[in-house]
Amino acid sequence: MDQQYRLQKSDNEEPDDLPDMDDGMNSCCLGDLVVIVNTRGAIAMARGDYPARYGLYGEIRTREFAFHFNPTGEIRYIRGLTRSWPHPWEWLKRTWGNDWVYYTVGLNAGMGRVSDWVGESYIPCLSYESNAIREGTPYSDPGTAAGFSAWSQVYGTLCCTSLDGLSEDIREFVNRVIETNNDSTLIAQAEKLHSIFGSRISVLPPDTRHVDYEVIPVNIADGCLYRCTFCSVKSGMHFRPRTETDILKQIDSLKSFFGINTGNFNAVFIGNHDALAAGISLLNFAALKSFDAFGFGQAHKGVPHMFLFGSAGSFLKSDSRVFETLARLPYKTFINLGLESYDGPTLKKLGKPIDKTMVKDSLQKMMDINRSYPNLEISANFLLGTTFSSEHHTSLVSLLGDIPKDPSNKGCIYLSPLIETVHRDKVLPMFYDIKNRCGIPVYIYLIQRL
Ligand code: SF4
Repeated sequence: MDQQYRLQKSDNEEPDDLPDMDDGMNSCCLGDLVVIVNTRGAIAMARGDYPARYGLYGEIRTREFAFHFNPTGEIRYIRGLTRSWPHPWEWLKRTWGNDWVYYTVGLNAGMGRVSDWVGESYIPCLSYESNAIREGTPYSDPGTAAGFSAWSQVYGTLCCTSLDGLSEDIREFVNRVIETNNDSTLIAQAEKLHSIFGSRISVLPPDTRHVDYEVIPVNIADGCLYRCTFCSVKSGMHFRPRTETDILKQIDSLKSFFGINTGNFNAVFIGNHDALAAGISLLNFAALKSFDAFGFGQAHKGVPHMFLFGSAGSFLKSDSRVFETLARLPYKTFINLGLESYDGPTLKKLGKPIDKTMVKDSLQKMMDINRSYPNLEISANFLLGTTFSSEHHTSLVSLLGDIPKDPSNKGCIYLSPLIETVHRDKVLPMFYDIKNRCGIPVYIYLIQRL
């Protein structure tokens, strides 16, 4: 593997590899493959600091690799079991948007700890262009490439092996794997999800890291208020809330889209770029209908999570009635605000029609809300990069450096690096310069889509 991905953890560390038994769990050997159905992961939700085995899944193992599948058969994880895999605690995940993401636990020496960067024990390495701060890609590593090619071989083997004599549950599982995992079916499935939402989900709130980005997306408003010129994730549409009828239709379609997989979710993303601007009535409606339809709140899954974006305008306009309504919902709710800069000329250059006062007031209000409501958590984003003026950086340092330590232990700042082609090495020191002075946690915002 590239030196970039050398590991901080010991190569000898192995995650506990024994799944929990489920009532319907069954297994068999199919040639060289071990097939296990109805496995229940050790944790209910998708979050862990080791290869996540959560919810209900099926598994196929070779001597070298473990492959996990959704209850409906689509592949969701690949992990190597031998020393040629980059690290026993690393894995590949396929999202419902049909992207592969490699989870790494390692950084170069001297670059800090992974948890300092992203607040989690691993860094998602995306297989598409994003705003990653690191160069290099794990996808060219021979161990990772071997994982993909082993998966192709397993799929080929399943397609041409007789299933006669296998128990019904194993046969059904293998047939589901065969049916759902050809490329065109996986692509069509992702397109179906995007068409229910109304578009590709170009960016998820950074706080969705708390559930490993495993959210059911419900769109209550297209477009956004500002349509900033610098933004690469905007839809370009004018802001327009959806109707309650449309939201109910979406929830219905999502319920049948995810089917039995809904049991593996306990979080919703209320989209799109500024759900807070759609108004508390629509937000409350979508939150409660989703809660009922997707079976959130079952005791074994823990507290359900709701994620949304807000803007400075919609956030400042929201009065206490809004936050009290949100606080009464059966969710832990995260609202992420895009503030971008505390420098007037930079905001202007970015085409972001807000001013310094709005930025400062939003930050102050964020701290107040975080202190006042135990189940609401507000976070804010700013941009990071060498292409900005020094005033952008120094004003940000002074604004965030003035934030005192917060006893509520809630809320954080995300710094979103612009894609750098020339001075990538200078971005990390800028990040630490801000992080080390701020009284609340500061993390890198990696733009992840669904
Ligand atoms: S930064 Fe946010 S508000 Fe501005 S265009 Fe992008 S999504 Fe819309």
